[in-house]
Amino acid sequence: MTRLYFNHALLASGWAANVTLEINPSGTIVAIETDSDGENCDDRAEVALPGLPNVHSHAFQRALAGRAEVQGDGTDSFWTWRQVMYKFLERVTPTDLYAIACMAYCEMLEAGMTSVCEFHYLHHGPDGHPYGDIGEMAQAIGEAAKTTGIGLTFLPVFYAQSQFGGADPGPQQRRFINDPERFGKLLERIDAIAGSLADARVGIAPHSLRAVTPDSLNQILAFKPDGPLHIHIAEQTKEVDDCLAWSGQRPVEWLIDHVNVDRRWCLVHATHMSGPERRRLAASGAVAGLCPITEANLGDGTFDGVHFLAEGGRIAIGSDSNVLIDAAEELRTLEYSQRLRDQGRNLLSNPQKSTGRHLYDQVLAGGAQASGRHIGRLSVGNRGDILSLDTSHPALIGSNLDGWLDSWIFAANSSAVSDLWVGGRRLVSAGQHRDRQTLRAQYSQTIKRLSA
Ligand SMILES: [Zn+2]
Repeated sequence: MTRLYFNHALLASGWAANVTLEINPSGTIVAIETDSDGENCDDRAEVALPGLPNVHSHAFQRALAGRAEVQGDGTDSFWTWRQVMYKFLERVTPTDLYAIACMAYCEMLEAGMTSVCEFHYLHHGPDGHPYGDIGEMAQAIGEAAKTTGIGLTFLPVFYAQSQFGGADPGPQQRRFINDPERFGKLLERIDAIAGSLADARVGIAPHSLRAVTPDSLNQILAFKPDGPLHIHIAEQTKEVDDCLAWSGQRPVEWLIDHVNVDRRWCLVHATHMSGPERRRLAASGAVAGLCPITEANLGDGTFDGVHFLAEGGRIAIGSDSNVLIDAAEELRTLEYSQRLRDQGRNLLSNPQKSTGRHLYDQVLAGGAQASGRHIGRLSVGNRGDILSLDTSHPALIGSNLDGWLDSWIFAANSSAVSDLWVGGRRLVSAGQHRDRQTLRAQYSQTIKRLSA
């Protein structure tokens, strides 16, 4: 058993003082003692928050961060960014993917994200043929999770078409492509990879409505009767227009009408919804997986969080393209997007709580649900995934309890995250992952080779 002591901890029941968490060797919280004297503890820190689940990542895209910020022919958009991304990934090997994912996961942990849902679609070799082991790229992701210690929900992506109506994929998409039968084999392999990790979960991710047909979508969903289901949806207005031209329906409307969208689903982005779509998604119990930094970087548009939360919708946060990995900035960007649009303040809020606390509570609950794992709350039976804030950070001095969350989210960044544990194992101390130097050297070599 590991016993961790905190002066203050945000438990499922609210803030408590002098808290000892007892965590078993497999990483699960088995006892919580409040008003404890902290004796015989293995480790201690000032404040314990549940670690933040990151519900949407393409780890390899971390290597592209900051490299697509030059105006091209004057019509740059999500679609021209995608061309830059396609060009880059032609050269990425399994060893490169391992090094890039290790760096991305290291940064996530240092930012306070204790788990990640990896939306993994870079499956095959550069010529589009599967590797000898169909799960070779997936193995690199699994190894990166093991090396860094981050909690993993593995989402193998099914990608078969390039456009609504079943258009054939383009040559630049060949590394992603499977038919349902081969996808089934990949899924089996990924189940085995995840089985070798501590508490990993496997789901399925149809890439987008563009990338599947109604038949293939139903076929692959039948492969997993349980586990999370994630899909990119309604990120761009062009995607909405193309879906309307194909089916006469908007993407979220089409999905809800043709598939049983329930609590297992995470609709990533869902940026462009009509009022009725938004209300139906809120009523479905599914999670909207918001990626505010990436959505701002790609110029996607603004999610209507004010109405969605008021209608009982569930939200979670993802780092998506990993252009910047910072949990506080994701939440701040989300709230600020609403303030800029509505010309108001404290919009994703609740009169009973501060905005930072309310936002954090929302994305913990939505994040745990979308991850399909026992995380997001410090309670018996859940994982010991914990972050501690540096209460002596200039932005946090003078705050306490919910105020620490407000100061971290609105006035600081990852530098306010001091320590972090996953499954009760300490991975971050004084803001640095225990293997940062090694992972950074490995990443540096990889990027130099890919950039040569
Ligand atoms: Zn994505």
